[in-house]
Amino acid sequence: MPSQYSYTVTERFLRYVQVDTQSDPHSASFPSTGKQKDLSSTLVAELKTMSIEDAEMDEYGYVYATIPSNTSKQVPVICFCSHVDTAPDCSGTHVKPILHESYDGRDIILPDDPEQVIRVETYPYLKTHIGYPVITASGTTLLGADDKSGVAIIMDMAHYLLTHPNIKHGDIKLLFTPDEEVGQGTAKLDLPKLGASVAYTLDGGELGSFEDETFSADGVRITIQGVIAHPGYAKDKLVNALKIAGEILAALPKNEWAPEATEKREGFVHPVGVNGIAEKATIEFIVRDFDTGKLAVYEDRLKQMVMTVLNGYPGATMEFEVTEQYRNMKEILDQHPQISAYAAEAYRRAGVSLVKEPIRGGTDGSRLSFMGLPCPNIFTGMQAIHSKHEWVGVRDMERAVDVLAQLVQVWEEQV
Ligand SMILES: [Zn+2]
Repeated sequence: MPSQYSYTVTERFLRYVQVDTQSDPHSASFPSTGKQKDLSSTLVAELKTMSIEDAEMDEYGYVYATIPSNTSKQVPVICFCSHVDTAPDCSGTHVKPILHESYDGRDIILPDDPEQVIRVETYPYLKTHIGYPVITASGTTLLGADDKSGVAIIMDMAHYLLTHPNIKHGDIKLLFTPDEEVGQGTAKLDLPKLGASVAYTLDGGELGSFEDETFSADGVRITIQGVIAHPGYAKDKLVNALKIAGEILAALPKNEWAPEATEKREGFVHPVGVNGIAEKATIEFIVRDFDTGKLAVYEDRLKQMVMTVLNGYPGATMEFEVTEQYRNMKEILDQHPQISAYAAEAYRRAGVSLVKEPIRGGTDGSRLSFMGLPCPNIFTGMQAIHSKHEWVGVRDMERAVDVLAQLVQVWEEQV
């Protein structure tokens, strides 16, 4: 299907992925790696070339920019956001993107390491790209479509809007963040400076996907205090905290309530770490559900299980601490139904069927939503992310540019 517009999103994408922007979870600095700024400063320079005068990168590597309103209406300020960093899981140095001009439907063997094969069987979504261009890495690195596809889409939308002044829109803020992959994407974000009331991240997968729902998440730490005694003289005295911890773990259900036994909309309770000595042991859990109210139910059940185990160990005590981690963004988005409704209208106008899937995890969008910037997630086409098999279809990136161009108009029309 020929595109209605002449997009340059592919050219941008091929350039951006060659800049190494891998983030580092063990770094104490911000951004976690200085090289992320290499791409961010390139983006600022390109935005200035597009005559976006206020484009700037701050000391932390965040890029802020405004496409000024070209309408007399007072349209809510919307923001498009993506992250410049790539995952620490797989090398992002010397990425050599390969554009497979017209994908032929076969497995793709990556030339720099022929052991690396992107198989149609593993990624049946490839079949929807037959006859279209597909971009892969060369076999030794990830591609970085997560999230440079999002970056390229937003940059191309900016270029498109600035060269098509007939498309009416309010102020549009562009935001490129560092360190999303190490969970710090919003850590140094200056929301008042951004000045948007609504945002959309471009950080989703298949064509048409739209994500406005994430898990709600708590952490639980159980600290068990045993009773210590010299093991040679411990009869009827010693109570071993490690054995209590082991019994608690063994008491957890195996066919329900665990990540390995749940899917779709089911929540879980999942031990992620045990630490201890005979005297004292801690167990760390993560607790997840789409319904925030259920977290407390899970936590009560867990506490009851621990108390039951503890009843068999007189003298032992325990502490049960719950920490809020993040919340389902839908709680916020439901208060602003127009954000998803306008997106749905933009997908429709762009001829893209919308598919909603709850995310079994958290996103920067969930954090942003609870920081006061409601923020669902739009597709970019990225696939097999964080791996050498990562790939993206050109059609999907172009359709996403189209969706954004429609979306800014829907917002303008509704005022
Ligand atoms: Zn991402």
